[in-house]
Amino acid sequence: MTLPGRPEVGDDLSEFSLIRRFFSPPASRRDVVLGVGDDCALLRVPEGRELAVSIDTLVEGVHFLPAADPEALGHKALAVSLSDLAAMAADPAWATLALTLPQPDVTWLKPFSHGLQTLAERFGVQLVGGDTTRGPVTTITLQAHGLVPEGLGLLRSGAQLGDAIYVTGCPGDAALALAMRLGRFPTDDRWQPYLSQRLDRPEPRVAAGLALRGIATACIDVSDGLAADLGHILRASGVGGCIRIPDLPLSPALAALGEGPHAARFALAGGDDYELCFTAPPALEHVLERAFAGLDCGFARIGEVQAHRELRCLDADGREVETEQGYRHF
Ligand SMILES: [Mg+2]
Repeated sequence: MTLPGRPEVGDDLSEFSLIRRFFSPPASRRDVVLGVGDDCALLRVPEGRELAVSIDTLVEGVHFLPAADPEALGHKALAVSLSDLAAMAADPAWATLALTLPQPDVTWLKPFSHGLQTLAERFGVQLVGGDTTRGPVTTITLQAHGLVPEGLGLLRSGAQLGDAIYVTGCPGDAALALAMRLGRFPTDDRWQPYLSQRLDRPEPRVAAGLALRGIATACIDVSDGLAADLGHILRASGVGGCIRIPDLPLSPALAALGEGPHAARFALAGGDDYELCFTAPPALEHVLERAFAGLDCGFARIGEVQAHRELRCLDADGREVETEQGYRHF
């Protein structure tokens, strides 16, 4: 029987052949008892581990442009969920995918699944299930599952008075890249390849998240903007804090914007960076440095947790600066 709104069974690209062709990777994990193909996947959570689960949706016209490179989209769909696992200090394990398409299109599906699968292999993730439906716009929902030793998951609510505030990598690049792409900011050819990479193929900070186990008191990934996401930590922890704008780690691309408000604005309010913002006792900074040695991103101390219940952004003279909010979901 053909379900209304679904590709017909028997089509070259029926739901079943589509999943079999593009989303049935070979078994790569011994904790997958049963992968794609049955009503459910069967997965084994090792004793002493907690299961961390995160789901994200990317909607055409909202989160990506209709002309977006499908290979990069496959990467990003998984990367944003792995970033949430990183923020909880969870080790990525499995993923499931729900895909809505106006019509099945091999020239889109092939590079999309390649982008997704390439990143999955890099992080030892096995795709264990999926669903495909026909719908008005391309919509990609990806759920990632990770494992964390009992009690070691990093929450938003653990920040303590006196903790320092840190961020990995260089926040603000993705927002600058998007502003240039949309013609809202003059483009600079020198930084175009770097910035496109930062926006289209974010690198989930999984190794950094694992390094923070037992050191950080709270953590979040920067998806909506550094100030907005740090605000989530401070509210959940019942504290406030400050960011010192001159201490923000700017990439050369952002630093090239020079003096003036733009660079700080991108770094504080720009979304889509997928860096980690975390708090930790400053006395453990040497432990942090050892934990990050050999990782592909550094970290910078950008402020302090304080008692007043708000986030203040301070300039070089310690004066408070008005800042914008980050991305709003509705
Ligand atoms: Mg998050």
